[in-house]
Amino acid sequence: MTSPFESGKPIIEKLNEAGFEAYFVGGAVRDFLLGRKIGDIDIATSAKPEEVKSIFPKTVDVGIEHGTVLVIYNGEGYEVTTFRKESEYEDYRRPKSVEFISSLEEDLQRRDFTINALAMDLNGDIHDPFNGKNDLVNKMIRCVGSPSERFMEDALRMMRAIRFQSQLGFQIEEETFNSLVQLAHLLEKIAVERILIEWSKLLGGKYKSSAFQSLIDTGLFQRLPANEELSSGIQDFLHYEVNDLEAEESWLLLLYKSNVQSPYTVLKKWKTPKALQKKLDSLLMWLQFRLKHEWTPFALYRAGIENALLVERVFNCIAGRELSVSSYTLKTLYDQLPIQNREDLFIDGNDLLKWTNHTPGPWLKEWMGYIEKAVVEGRIGNDKEEIREWFLNEFK
Ligand code: ATP
Ligand code: MG
Repeated sequence: MTSPFESGKPIIEKLNEAGFEAYFVGGAVRDFLLGRKIGDIDIATSAKPEEVKSIFPKTVDVGIEHGTVLVIYNGEGYEVTTFRKESEYEDYRRPKSVEFISSLEEDLQRRDFTINALAMDLNGDIHDPFNGKNDLVNKMIRCVGSPSERFMEDALRMMRAIRFQSQLGFQIEEETFNSLVQLAHLLEKIAVERILIEWSKLLGGKYKSSAFQSLIDTGLFQRLPANEELSSGIQDFLHYEVNDLEAEESWLLLLYKSNVQSPYTVLKKWKTPKALQKKLDSLLMWLQFRLKHEWTPFALYRAGIENALLVERVFNCIAGRELSVSSYTLKTLYDQLPIQNREDLFIDGNDLLKWTNHTPGPWLKEWMGYIEKAVVEGRIGNDKEEIREWFLNEFK
């Protein structure tokens, strides 16, 4: 066993010393066995939440009614969840009640897919009652038990199946796939916020092409927020090499290809954060610019290097490598700009007021803009005297 499990080992040790069973579980074990980067570390234990809290001095109640306590240890947080069983699900999305139990196997049984139903003990031994390791080797996403039952208990699992396909490049096992087709309509029962979490991970996946194909083939796509607005784009999306795109880049390509006038309507339906809506609106504008023009110094200055690089990656996807500029070239162009933002200018509005003896007004902003552009484009140097001469000559 190697880090980052090493750092979580003391938690398991302390639980064991107090007489409880405790294991690493879920995604961390899966990713460890796959040699992928490990995200959050989840621990499952036979200790009840109150018992967990009495063992560790620093804890946060993050979901105590579901049995989850966040243990803070050496500055890191570990989600420690009591073995539990979920009984009777309501409205395809939540268990009516959870019952704390003492069996690891029963706890693993409530999990969505066999590859997520693995546990690892302190010695590094894997507990795998549903043959998850076999599915890891065969690259299969398979429900624990009956797929239709599992999807009817919590319909979000259908989105999770496709999100894991996007991240891992696995196939969806046949019976699991057939249940997706049959039960796709149940996704409408699920809160958009929960769907968005899986969708964002799906958009960033290295195998998103096949995941998008599955979204279409299962009919799940038609159950997603704003699917009508995005329906033209999704077909096009599949024609491009999208696997290397990050989540925001995928959004941008999808929005562009769907020909949406303003991304706000679509993104509001998805309940994305406001900051992302604003960012994508601006990125969409820059992508449209880029499809008609080369980067000019002023466009690069206005867009900023991060946005320009992002737009260029999507442009590369649409127009091909021959037409796009490398990130190295773009960064060099940006670094060579005479100024990178307005604060870099050697004059400000007060100078213009002094030189003209005029009172402030809309003209001031307008002329600051002209000067800024002239400096960025290298028509005048960023030098107070040079700017003054140019300005007084033009202003008249
Ligand atoms: P990631 O690497 O993205 O964190 P993960 O597999 O760890 O992936 P989480 O959402 O962090 O996914 O959930 C942790 C574990 O909890 C899963 O591996 C799975 O065992 C279980 N789980 C999570 N959500 C569900 C669900 N809706 N139904 C059943 N089990 C679930
Ligand atoms: Mg996780």
